[in-house]
Amino acid sequence: MTQLIDRFHRRITYLRVSITDRCDLRCLYCMAEEMTFLPRAQILTLEEIYTLASAFVALGVEKIRITGGEPLVRRGALELIERLGRLPLKELTLTTNGMRLAECARRLAEAGVRRINISLDSLKPERFRRITRFGELERVLCGIDAAREAGFAKIKLNCVVMKGYNHDEVVDLVRFAVTKGLDISFIEEMPLGMIKEHDRAAVYYSSDQVRADLEQAFRLVPTAERTGGPARYFRVVGTDTRVGFISPHSHNFCADCNRVRLTVEGRLLLCLGNEHSVDLKRVLRRYPGDADKLRQAICQAMAIKPERHHFDLNERPILLRHMNATGG
Ligand code: SAM
Ligand code: SF4
Repeated sequence: MTQLIDRFHRRITYLRVSITDRCDLRCLYCMAEEMTFLPRAQILTLEEIYTLASAFVALGVEKIRITGGEPLVRRGALELIERLGRLPLKELTLTTNGMRLAECARRLAEAGVRRINISLDSLKPERFRRITRFGELERVLCGIDAAREAGFAKIKLNCVVMKGYNHDEVVDLVRFAVTKGLDISFIEEMPLGMIKEHDRAAVYYSSDQVRADLEQAFRLVPTAERTGGPARYFRVVGTDTRVGFISPHSHNFCADCNRVRLTVEGRLLLCLGNEHSVDLKRVLRRYPGDADKLRQAICQAMAIKPERHHFDLNERPILLRHMNATGG
């Protein structure tokens, strides 16, 4: 079987698929308050997303993560996920803001989603609303409980830490994760898209600082476990909870990169921190039904996967696309 291997001998086995750029929230670090979303003609249909995902699986991709925007706001998302769940994958996963999880959790689990990531930046309702602009903490907490009842093998919380917004809650968030039997990852904010409301360098709070804060309250031991992602994991001693740190600034994670991203416009992004991309929608629409052309385009794209990203919080974002358009 042809496999996807780039110039740096990294095998690409993981595809992240953004199925919509839209969202019911406007998290400060991800979106501006006023966003213009893509017109329908410009985005992939659900059928096109399925065709592309199948092509990647035929090329050795073993893991697909569905993301967005908020994937659960797209009409037909659950049907698409059910179809993807029938592909020969090792893992189908989803990242969600949790707002619609109470209604969807059971169907997602039945579709074969084994692991799910839920964003949770604060346990204080007003803060949660300030960071997400429209979020209702109570709804997300109900979503988390619904996910626990639905029987996913792993549920992980994702928290973007920002000084002055939520950095003082990291211990409480880990305590919450421990109580609920969940994992949790802390993420350093990445400079994707222009954000006017806050200065990213000023709110930067490094993973090392978070870890030092946590070590005042818990004993953390490093684990060798990897989930195929950039997080470094620690176990909270005496619990089932693992704490992950995703640190694009302080710990570059590019050397082990096994992933590419498909935007909802059908652009294949070869790196989170660079613009290198290939327009797969153009190939799909110009040569409908031609699996060879699609396969060729995907294989050729490997030649332009960059070696690493170079994020600098003190410079203007080199990337004008926001995380919602990227498939975070
Ligand atoms: N809407 C879903 C959610 O919020 O989980 C899925 C999409 S969201 C873009 C995926 C993840 O990216 C979330 O955990 C979010 O916190 C994170 N994210 C968004 N913008 C970010 C940024 N500028 N830096 C770091 N993480 C970011
Ligand atoms: Fe929406 Fe997720 Fe971005 Fe928040 S992080 S605005 S929930 S896409």
